[in-house]
Amino acid sequence: MRVRLTDRLTLRQLRYTLVIALGLGLLLSAVQVARDYSQHVDSTMASANRMLDAFHYAAVQAAYTLDSDLAGDVVRGLVADGPIISARIISDLGDRLAGIHVGEQIEATPVAFLFGQPVVQRRELTKTQPGGRQETIGFLEVEISAVRTSGPFLERVALNLLSVLIETVVLAGVLALIYLRTTTRPITTIVSRLQAAEDEGTLVKDLPVPRGHDKDEIGFLVKAFNGLLRSVETELRARRQAEDDLRKANDVLEIRVEERTAHLNQEIAERRAIEEALRQSEERFRDLAEVSSDWFWETDEHGRFTLVSDRFFGVSGLSRHQIIGRTVGDLLTGTIIADISDGWDVLQHMMEQRSPLVRYDMTLRGNDGRMIFARMDGKPVFDITGQFIGYRGTGRDVTQRKIVEARLDEARSEAERANAAKSHFLANMSHELRTPMNAILGFAQLLRAAPGQGLTQTQKSYVQHILDAGDHLLRLINEILDLARIEAGRIELSIESVDIVDLVKECSDMLDPLAAGQDITVTIEDHDGPLHVMGDRSRLKQILLNLGSNAIKYNRHGGSVRIGFGVSPTPGLQRILVCDTGIGIPQDMLRKVFEPFNRIGADRTAIEGTGIGLTVTRQLVEHMNGAIGVESTVGEGSTFWFDLPVSSPLPKPKDLDSQRSQPQDGTLSHPPLRVLYVEDNPANRDLMRDVMDLRPNVTLVMAENGKTGLSMALSENPDLILLDMNLPDIDGLKIARQLRTDLQMRDTPIVAVSAGAMARDIERARSAGIDDYICKPFDVSEMLTLLDTVATGSYSPGTLRENGTGNTLGAPGL
Ligand code: ADP
Repeated sequence: MRVRLTDRLTLRQLRYTLVIALGLGLLLSAVQVARDYSQHVDSTMASANRMLDAFHYAAVQAAYTLDSDLAGDVVRGLVADGPIISARIISDLGDRLAGIHVGEQIEATPVAFLFGQPVVQRRELTKTQPGGRQETIGFLEVEISAVRTSGPFLERVALNLLSVLIETVVLAGVLALIYLRTTTRPITTIVSRLQAAEDEGTLVKDLPVPRGHDKDEIGFLVKAFNGLLRSVETELRARRQAEDDLRKANDVLEIRVEERTAHLNQEIAERRAIEEALRQSEERFRDLAEVSSDWFWETDEHGRFTLVSDRFFGVSGLSRHQIIGRTVGDLLTGTIIADISDGWDVLQHMMEQRSPLVRYDMTLRGNDGRMIFARMDGKPVFDITGQFIGYRGTGRDVTQRKIVEARLDEARSEAERANAAKSHFLANMSHELRTPMNAILGFAQLLRAAPGQGLTQTQKSYVQHILDAGDHLLRLINEILDLARIEAGRIELSIESVDIVDLVKECSDMLDPLAAGQDITVTIEDHDGPLHVMGDRSRLKQILLNLGSNAIKYNRHGGSVRIGFGVSPTPGLQRILVCDTGIGIPQDMLRKVFEPFNRIGADRTAIEGTGIGLTVTRQLVEHMNGAIGVESTVGEGSTFWFDLPVSSPLPKPKDLDSQRSQPQDGTLSHPPLRVLYVEDNPANRDLMRDVMDLRPNVTLVMAENGKTGLSMALSENPDLILLDMNLPDIDGLKIARQLRTDLQMRDTPIVAVSAGAMARDIERARSAGIDDYICKPFDVSEMLTLLDTVATGSYSPGTLRENGTGNTLGAPGL
């Protein structure tokens, strides 16, 4: 520890002690001197008076005698020694007898200053006259000064001062020593310790109490300081810990800040990129919008145009001041806007509702009087607070499009007319072809079936030929109509979940007789449980029967057909395969088998066919969202496959199986049945009569036209009405509707027997209250089944369609 000498505590104590002691000593000395001074002055005056008294008589004598010499002696005697510095004797007449002054030297000394001016005393010199009267004879004047006798006094003062000085110095020295030992040195020791610790950079933990100071203030100070150090240390430690924590937190914070900054920078970069993308997108949008539309427009919240882009004025020839600041309503004067699609009221309402404006067509009158068709689209615009601020949109000149649309409309109507004519032609064709076929096939069946007709073997084979040819012709008609309908896009499919395993079994049963004829075995691949696909059940059956019959037809004698289930390469589809061991198809012909009327050479063989079965099949599969294909090896066989979407199963109709197992033996004796047949064609009436003859329990009554049919239905009370749809007077649908209004006829089964086989015909019949629909030419056994089910009371509407015996199933319309 380096402390400047002047700053040292001991020296300062010494200095203060010196000053105070000196001051105090001097003060006391001054008091002493003052007292001495007063005593000295008093004793001087007393001494002077004593001398005056001593020389008074001599002075009186000198004055009385006017003896100058005596007077001179007196005055010299007075100033010879003592405090009198001048003396004069004056006669009563004022004559100076003697006088002397010795005070010049004294007055010139510095001490004279201390004692001030000399004191003047004048004594009257008197002579007692006879009678005791006192007579003044002169005066004695003296000047008294204490300076002359001040030597001892000054010596005392000097001594006094010296002793005070010495005392003070000694006292100060002693006190400084005491301070040094008792205060300064212990403090210096402590401070040195602290200083050393500071120099080492360590923290002082416990300062030792200086020896001998255990119980005094320094001891307490050190202890208190140690306590303070401890608390400082604790606090320091806590602070360091806090600083550590703070630094760590700061580090974390800095990392976070860095991360956040990086993130922000990234965000900023991204935002810039987004803004740039947005700008480009806006530009692109504007360009595109400009390309896709002709002009932009904007309105304020009142619907007044605030902006319309230049293109509009270029297109219309109108000027800006004619449009800006006006509403569509203002412009609807006929001179600018001639017409608005849906009308101004609707547009105004839409705008009030803040609805988007989609394809509003307006007829504008250009400045040159030319009519312009404009199409406007717009959307309401809201500000950030959701406040509506107007509309914004685009407009296009659609004049050319309008002209084209008008032409297209015309062409469309023309096409629709042609299509209607085609449909009409198809319906007529179907009807016209089926009506004679009904008679041909019906009578041929009767000829074949009727016992006791005595037909020769040759005749029987002729009948069989008629039936075969008729069947072929009927199939051809059905398939051609089917194809025409599909190609016209008018196929109606009822897509549902179908158990394909079940349906395959059903088809296999139906194919068995055909297969048996060629000694071919039809097998179905085992499959555990049902397998459901999405399709139209009846059309699916048509597909399976077509593929199955082809597999039999184009097989070899004694061959086999296998219907199996495979995995489709397309997920979600189920594959069904029909494999045969037949003649096969050459590779280059594989695609052609699906072309209409292409029999790829089979037409030169004895195998019957139309060449459109596979075309229809492919169309049907594709309409059911599936795919079809074939793989084949000539001489080994072919595999036709089709894929259909897999579905979840639907619950099976409750009574379907029971209905399928319904006994259909016509030889059973059934309750009597009264049947009314309304038919205008005599051949068909004859056919029906002969069919009914096969059931002895049936009584047939017939009407030739609708009117008679209606009255007979009410008068004859039939159990079943068979109704031709195309009657000369009243439409069959009208008859059915009328009958259904009659209470008596409400539940009587009405079955249509008609050559109209279009789906539309059947649907209309159903909605007119007809229970079932048998297409001409009908199958005799089907008709007999109908009679039996009605007679036994087991008939329910739709039975024919459900049990699959009805010709309706084979009919193209269903
Ligand atoms: P078709 O009425 O002639 O059978 P399709 O459209 O059903 O008409 O079939 C078209 C042609 O494809 C058939 O004429 C036949 O030559 C050929 N074809 C179809 N199925 C097979 C098959 N399983 N095996 C060999 N050839 C077949």
